[in-house]
Amino acid sequence: MNITIIGTGYVGLVTGVSLTVLGHKVICVGRDPKKIRSINVGKAPFYEPGLEKLLKKSIAKKLLIATDNLENSVKTSDISIIAVGTPTVNNKIDLSFIEKASEQIGLALKNTEKYHVVVVKSTVVPMTTETVVKSALEKSSRKKIGQFGLCMVPEFLREGQAVKDALNPDRVVIGAIDAKSAEIFSKIYKKIKSPQIITNLRTAEMTKYAANALFATLISYSNEIAGICEAVEGIDAVDVWNGVHLDKRLSPTIGKKRIKPGILNFILSGCGYGGSCFPKDTKSLASFSDSLKLPTQIIRNVIDVNERQPERVIMLLKKAIGSLKNKKIAVLGLAFKPKTDDMRESPAFPVIKILLKEQANVVAHDPVSYKQGVPRELEELHISLAKDVKEAIGGADAVVIITAWGEYKRLTPTVLKKHMKTPVIIDGRRILSKDKFLKEGVMYKGIGFSA
Ligand code: NAD
Repeated sequence: MNITIIGTGYVGLVTGVSLTVLGHKVICVGRDPKKIRSINVGKAPFYEPGLEKLLKKSIAKKLLIATDNLENSVKTSDISIIAVGTPTVNNKIDLSFIEKASEQIGLALKNTEKYHVVVVKSTVVPMTTETVVKSALEKSSRKKIGQFGLCMVPEFLREGQAVKDALNPDRVVIGAIDAKSAEIFSKIYKKIKSPQIITNLRTAEMTKYAANALFATLISYSNEIAGICEAVEGIDAVDVWNGVHLDKRLSPTIGKKRIKPGILNFILSGCGYGGSCFPKDTKSLASFSDSLKLPTQIIRNVIDVNERQPERVIMLLKKAIGSLKNKKIAVLGLAFKPKTDDMRESPAFPVIKILLKEQANVVAHDPVSYKQGVPRELEELHISLAKDVKEAIGGADAVVIITAWGEYKRLTPTVLKKHMKTPVIIDGRRILSKDKFLKEGVMYKGIGFSA
């Protein structure tokens, strides 16, 4: 099939590349000429494991091109997939990119005879597809549903393993306005064995929010419990969660083997969730619920607990070293999670902002997020960026771990004692062995343990 993807970000490009692996021809429509040029020479404009290798192959086989010409792309395709951003502005979803993309697709459909299916893959609050998207399409195309098709297929890929997820999704939820749209869209994934759920547009939209809000809730619940653990000397949340995880309803035994389901990764304490999805999706869901005059007590508290986590990191740090004024603090990790360069809503930013307000000298390190050039959001901060971990921790009064990168897991007491001014570590992700560090004379504190 010939497919147009609007938006060349994490979802758009990964989806585009994976669809070429399934044998489709893809045109990725973007707005940034630099990104378009980069994609067309097989260079991914962001870091995602495995993406660049597949992109190069797709380009070489002429299965994928990038362009800014949306009209031509739509006219020559069977399906258009909208994968543009849906940020929150003032805690409410901003649908302007969705509306604009729908309008542009509609204009292209105006002069085409061929039946075309428009698919929303961006995360949008229930009823967006059948109100905002449908009306923009109908208005600018001067056609009615039936003359073109409409689906809402939420994306569940995880950054850091996005290519794997896109090629092997747990499920494909297809919300469709009519049977013909669903039938045409489901052909895209006919080579994939994953279960398909065919439903209506608003159920598909809600499924994505229910999933993300569930994971965010588990994280904030775990962090609330961690707060109680920190306040009582001798309790360590890591040991508490080990005990909880071994409930067979959470980690069942299959044969003689104990299974450790992925959900357990969300029932752990840390410095909070970030990224381009959980923070904005929980806020969008809460404000959508407000618009229905329904209070969302749980989700509001999930957001609140999460927004307080960075302060908890600072509280642990102050407990360890007192005043932060003129102290050198090494912040390890800027990406919101490992294996991505995505720093959107990373807890590193509120932590750094408090450190700067308290007049600390901040040296940050991340293995990928400024490797291809320093992004604007980092340039605007008055911090130094270290070329490696040793440079970051050299002469530091304390180290704060924000992202669970593999190389931070390999830090040892010897390395800290050798390079730091005073060996103090605040483990915001609980990735280091507390006992080992304490035994070797390092002052160790972490979320869920502060003795
Ligand atoms: P992103 O910001 O990385 O990419 C969006 C891209 O769309 C940008 O490059 C922007 O320039 C482009 N764009 C906007 N309007 C356009 C237009 N009219 N024409 C062409 N390009 C246009 O965003 P993302 O992370 O890829 O997320 C996209 C959507 O998918 C969001 O709704 C997000 O919530 C959802 N989602 C994201 C993830 C994730 O892990 N990133 C996972 C699941 C769902």
